[in-house]
Amino acid sequence: MTTLPSISTQPGAVLVGAGIMSATLAVLLKELQPDLEIVLLEGRDGPAQESSNGWNNAGTGHAALCELNYTSPRPDGTVDISRALKVNTQFDLSRQLWTSLVREGSIPAPDSFIHPVPHISFVHGADNVAFLRKRHAAMSAHHCFAGMEYTEDPVELAAWMPLVMEGRDPGEPVAATRMTQGTDVDYGALTTMLIAHLQTLPGFRVAYGREVRDVQRSGDRWTVVADVKSGGRETLSGKFVFLGAGGGALPLLQKSGISEAKGYGGFPVSGLWLRCDNPSLAERHDAKVYGKASVGAPPMSVPHLDSRVIDGKRALLFGPYAGFSTKFLKNGSVADLFLSVKSDNIGPLLAAGRDNWDLTKYLIGQVVQSEAQRFAALLEYFPNAKSSDWELAVAGQRVQVIMPDKKKGGVLQFGTEVVASADGSIVAVLGASPGASVAVAMMLDIIGRCFKGELPGWTPRLKELIPSYGRSIADDADLCRQVRADTAAGLKLADTVSA
Ligand SMILES: Cc1cc2nc3c(=O)[nH]c(=O)nc-3n(C[C@H](O)[C@H](O)[C@H](O)COP(=O)(O)OP(=O)(O)OC[C@H]3O[C@@H](n4cnc5c(N)ncnc54)[C@H](O)[C@@H]3O)c2cc1C
Repeated sequence: MTTLPSISTQPGAVLVGAGIMSATLAVLLKELQPDLEIVLLEGRDGPAQESSNGWNNAGTGHAALCELNYTSPRPDGTVDISRALKVNTQFDLSRQLWTSLVREGSIPAPDSFIHPVPHISFVHGADNVAFLRKRHAAMSAHHCFAGMEYTEDPVELAAWMPLVMEGRDPGEPVAATRMTQGTDVDYGALTTMLIAHLQTLPGFRVAYGREVRDVQRSGDRWTVVADVKSGGRETLSGKFVFLGAGGGALPLLQKSGISEAKGYGGFPVSGLWLRCDNPSLAERHDAKVYGKASVGAPPMSVPHLDSRVIDGKRALLFGPYAGFSTKFLKNGSVADLFLSVKSDNIGPLLAAGRDNWDLTKYLIGQVVQSEAQRFAALLEYFPNAKSSDWELAVAGQRVQVIMPDKKKGGVLQFGTEVVASADGSIVAVLGASPGASVAVAMMLDIIGRCFKGELPGWTPRLKELIPSYGRSIADDADLCRQVRADTAAGLKLADTVSA
């Protein structure tokens, strides 16, 4: 057994996984209680090497400005925008925290991780055009989506997204909505900067090459055991444990033995992108263009053609193409899925399999896709694309949550789930969507659940960091305008904010 010099073996908090979730929680906790000792354990040799890495996710600042899956048609023909509003205002919390951290000098210039990029929803076919028109009417009537533009005019569409419109059949009905306030976020760069900032603070230590193998309750603390890459084992005892291990969170949650985790399972969905680094094409596409999902496709597999800015360079990303792998992490083991099957979750897993036949068919179709079929999907969004400009890249791995359900036995869930022990001493984040964009909202939720006693004393600082904290941007139009103008200025997105 080895111990690291200068790392307390009895910290107040042990966080597992150096992705955006742990980084965000650690920053918030250190802001709220500077003397809290935190140890962050990561299996890899550095931060943000799984889903939070810039190339492993799409970098969309999900604010429901273009993702069609956040709205749904109601039986009476109207469009339900409630989910879109929730995601939209959750992203405002992220923008506010990032703005405060930039202003306080905790993280460097905002253009090292966030860039303004218009968000476009694009559809073709008469039925889809009719839906988008109604959706636009419902959304643009709400102050949170004020300024959303709609057009069916091919000339205007070509100005918004030339690559998408060039070479397209002029007889086909097409339509799009556009929000110029959208963003592209390099969550890998952000995670790295947050952890670099944390490392300057007393009482924070990050230890890489520490693969956590076991988490066990002992009295009012948790014993966390990690394999050390360079050899040996390390044991820590934490009062609070956060399992921010992405796809690795479910196995650790199961090890903890808490009753709240009973029945949870995971279903891995892998992903592929087509990536284009040709600067002349990247310069001609300044948008994230989201389309409609195919039948059975999981919501996060909606195809989109994205402008990306990573390490100061522009690129294009198309996809994701879904796939199936039994690994829970991109760098995981093929045994992950099998090892996660326990007596308490086999029922929910089988029930979810039975009720998601469309998804199974969709995944099989994706897995057996040829290169030409993949390219054909790109041509729907970029009719003049040339295969020589594009290369295949492996995206991050997502583990969709399977939850126990009294009626159905088990349900497959596409969102994110926070599972905490009743006393709030251990908590895990499962699932993947909307993901990194709403990390701040999720970590505030966790703080509310796990630090109830401390919260009243922490609230004034929370209000400094996140001025809308405790108020509803969705209900208060003035607050919404104020927060957006302030964060647009703070994050240098000002030129994209509509009146
Ligand atoms: C294809 C794809 C596209 C996406 N697109 C978007 C998008 O456009 N916008 C958006 O907001 N979100 C998006 N997401 C979701 C987003 O990437 C994730 O929600 C987010 O990055 C999860 O962060 P995390 O910190 O929980 O996990 P991760 O970033 O995966 O970090 C988990 C860390 O835990 C470590 N770890 C795991 N097990 C252990 C262990 N036992 N011991 C020690 N360390 C361990 C891993 O090595 C890893 O570093 C996308 C995800 C994917 C896969």
